Amino acid sequence: MNDIDLYLDANATTPVLPAARMAALAAMAEDFGNPSSSHGTGLKARALMNTVRARARRVLGADSGQLLFLSGATEGIQTAVFSALVALRERRMRGQTVPPLLLYGATEHKAVPEAIHHWNTLLGLCLQVLAIPVDAQGLHDLAWLRAQAPRAGLVCTMAANNETGVISNLPGIADALTGSPALWLVDSVQALGKLPLRLTELPIDYAPFSGHKLYAPKGIGLLYVREQAPLTPLMAGGGQEGALRSGTENMPGIAALGAVLEALEDGRLIRSPEVLTNYRDQLAHALSAAFPGLVFNAPAHNSLPTTLNFSVKGLESRLLLDLFDAAEMRVSGGSACSAAKAQPSHVLEAMGLPSWQTASAVRLSFGPGAGQELIAEACQRIRACGEALRDSCLTPVPPVDIGTSAPDRLTRFVLDGVCSYLVADASSQTCVVIDPVAGLTTRLVQWIRCRGYSLRALLRTGGDDEPGDDLADLQSLLDPMARGAADPLGWPLQGDTLSMGALRLTKLSLSPSTADRGAYLLTDAAGLCVAFIGAADAPRAADENHAEPPSTEHLVLPLESLRKVIAPDTLLLPGHDEENRFALTLAEGLDLVTHAQGRSRREPGAPAEQASVEIRPEALAATAAGHSAVILVDVREPYEQRLGSAPDTPFPVRRMTVPLSALPNALPEWQALGPDTLLLFYCRTGNRSAQAATVLRRLSRAKAYSVAGGLALWPSAALATQIGSDEQRSPA
Ligand code: PLP
Repeated sequence: MNDIDLYLDANATTPVLPAARMAALAAMAEDFGNPSSSHGTGLKARALMNTVRARARRVLGADSGQLLFLSGATEGIQTAVFSALVALRERRMRGQTVPPLLLYGATEHKAVPEAIHHWNTLLGLCLQVLAIPVDAQGLHDLAWLRAQAPRAGLVCTMAANNETGVISNLPGIADALTGSPALWLVDSVQALGKLPLRLTELPIDYAPFSGHKLYAPKGIGLLYVREQAPLTPLMAGGGQEGALRSGTENMPGIAALGAVLEALEDGRLIRSPEVLTNYRDQLAHALSAAFPGLVFNAPAHNSLPTTLNFSVKGLESRLLLDLFDAAEMRVSGGSACSAAKAQPSHVLEAMGLPSWQTASAVRLSFGPGAGQELIAEACQRIRACGEALRDSCLTPVPPVDIGTSAPDRLTRFVLDGVCSYLVADASSQTCVVIDPVAGLTTRLVQWIRCRGYSLRALLRTGGDDEPGDDLADLQSLLDPMARGAADPLGWPLQGDTLSMGALRLTKLSLSPSTADRGAYLLTDAAGLCVAFIGAADAPRAADENHAEPPSTEHLVLPLESLRKVIAPDTLLLPGHDEENRFALTLAEGLDLVTHAQGRSRREPGAPAEQASVEIRPEALAATAAGHSAVILVDVREPYEQRLGSAPDTPFPVRRMTVPLSALPNALPEWQALGPDTLLLFYCRTGNRSAQAATVLRRLSRAKAYSVAGGLALWPSAALATQIGSDEQRSPA
């Protein structure tokens, strides 16, 4: 495992500069005065505050107007939007005409449109709120803005975008606003330390800043307000900051910000634009080489040199984030991702990028004070990440040596809750694909080509999911014997059973039989017994939060027909699995149907599945002590396991590696374990291991747990010394 974390998420927040830490400590220990006090201790604090404000004025080019200390950019944005809208409301109350539009850039940070909507409603203004469109490069449509500007009361744009780093054309915007009655807010959070700022040289009315984006702590920010721009305090109270922002000042934060500004002024803190651009080029080069098919989502020439936003075709951002995290590189999704569905980035959507790019973006950002060592180490880890993916057959370029490890019998590929399955037999090097769906075919093709397997059949269960664009690529891999003679669902034989080494795949005859719907049973001598039941057939739980329970019509028929051909405890693998159920059983399926009909068979008061699967790391030893055997299962994917090492435990364990994508293979073995065996799942964050433990709980394995917080919170050495001795530790 890499012993140093590489922090490459500076647009989210930065570490605190050592000088800033010391300044904050001094402001807590020695110079702890309240700047409103008139005695010596207070006067010292006031002097410090004045010095920092004066320094900020110089750094920001704000020799006139107000410069307020407040808690951060979100508060600065609120204050500015509130002030502007209060001024509009006052005009309306005086009987004057109010411009009817409030405008904000379509790629703004959420704080801006949320603040506009919030205060527009709360103040009862009810003006029309419109997003200023941006072009494919992320730049504001200035012709559109020029046309709307005469009717705008407030215009909000950002200096540089936090997701893409795109630098706005502020002089162009200023020009488009010439003669407009609008007040102009420029969210300058991502510009501080990265772009030259001369606030008073442009007709900017409000500019919020945030300390924690440039090596100061969280909880301190600045708001510049142009002379004569309206300013209504958001906080009333003791009259601090000239009664414009009441509340005792955050002196440790101000002192720390002062230390950062001092380093900035001295030229000690940040690298030159040329050096930063060179760093970005090194990273961009390493990324392009490591991930074939990678595209950058913003033009380099017009973006902050410290930000890279990219997508890799066929690799969703969740996968890349797991990969980078395993290499101890902290990057972030260009989009926020929920467990099952990737939420596309609104920024990339506004730029009109294709959906695969908007849903799979990754942002890598470093601080302007970064050094060559960090960049070189990052490039090396990026290369290692690329190799790990290549060795797992996840890139179009095959590995130099595929190695000898046999792939799992069954692999589940899932994207946005829609599943494709791959059944593989290592002895005969043959495989079958079931339900190749859009977005996953590329990966399936890569899997098969990379390992040189022969594709015996391309089966469908008859759901309504679109096959991928590159289905033809997959079809071209079909064994010549299997082409042509197949039924409408792709079953290539006259008979009902297809054998691949020890694996047997049987086409189930459903009744009433339909040519457009199929289900397949997979068995082997080792106890694997699963049925692929497809999308429309998948029994789905009614969600109590849903206003309308799902229609049960599509559930009952297939369950009834399946019941005739397979055993009640056979694991059913659904084609749609938004809730990550992985495998269902007929008995459970029928339960779910009755549940959907409002007749839940769950015992009253029975705990919710998810609530009890988590176990805190510090409780592991005590829980393990009550069991004769503990199985510790790493559910991360092979490319992650390759980059990281297994965690320590202070008690003996049997270790297993079962990637979540291969979970169904291990279910029969785990279901058969005695009650004395504890199953402990872990992953990077505790999310995937919770899914695995929940599946086992549902399938009647009560002793299945997920280690809460996963490796991210695993207190390896601390845990060992705190709750056990070294002798008790099992070898890793
Ligand atoms: N605006 C931009 C562009 C940002 O990047 C952020 C932080 O993510 C904010 C506003 C909010 O800043 P703060 O965390 O100081 O409230």
